[in-house]
Amino acid sequence: MRTTPAVLMVPELADEPGFVHGFSTLAVGSVGLKHAPDPGPVLGARKAFLHALDLDGVEPTTIGSVHGAEVARVDEPGGAVDDVDALLTDRAGVALFATYADCYPIVLWDPEKRVAGLVHAGWRGTQAGVSAAAARFMRDEYGCRHIRAGIGPGICGRCYEVGGEVAAKFDARFIGPSAGGRWLLDLAAANAAQLEDGGVKAVYDIGMCTKESYLFPSHRRMPDGTRFGAIVALQ
Ligand SMILES: [Zn+2]
Repeated sequence: MRTTPAVLMVPELADEPGFVHGFSTLAVGSVGLKHAPDPGPVLGARKAFLHALDLDGVEPTTIGSVHGAEVARVDEPGGAVDDVDALLTDRAGVALFATYADCYPIVLWDPEKRVAGLVHAGWRGTQAGVSAAAARFMRDEYGCRHIRAGIGPGICGRCYEVGGEVAAKFDARFIGPSAGGRWLLDLAAANAAQLEDGGVKAVYDIGMCTKESYLFPSHRRMPDGTRFGAIVALQ
């Protein structure tokens, strides 16, 4: 994996002054502590991830990722906010962090108000409206009117097979038939629609499927607890 980049970004948001974001690849290793037999390598991987974004020494603030639609603001670096799936900040030196393996990281940025956010969206959070809630929070809490969003790597609409009971919870535009007689759910499209309906001016998509790319871990491809990370920070 020597030639594999440590971090990928949504190209359209990679050159925003003061806004830092990235998704760690398997080149830095798993950044998920929950299922790790040994925390040592995971903490090393997290350090390498921060280093790749020039965030050495920054203490990230971790999103609890409970598959809901709760949102909170972060004003101080470090710690964890356990009961949320999205965090926002307008403070330089704060780095928002979450781990993923098929669920979608979505980054948010308002260059006018200088507010940044990170969302964790699997099917439950998407159904609960977490992306819409994060966009609403940016408007209501920070007065944002020029929000731009980037959808990171996640399991794509050709790969994400679900049963009828999950498919029934989503608008028909995001559902298609699968070859196996079940249903395919397009989570990226569902989140993009929520963001656009919520007044987000531009939604970009990195267009990478975790199940189809060797760069990222996928719970559906190999459910071994390996996780990639997303970071959003202000400098
Ligand atoms: Zn795919």
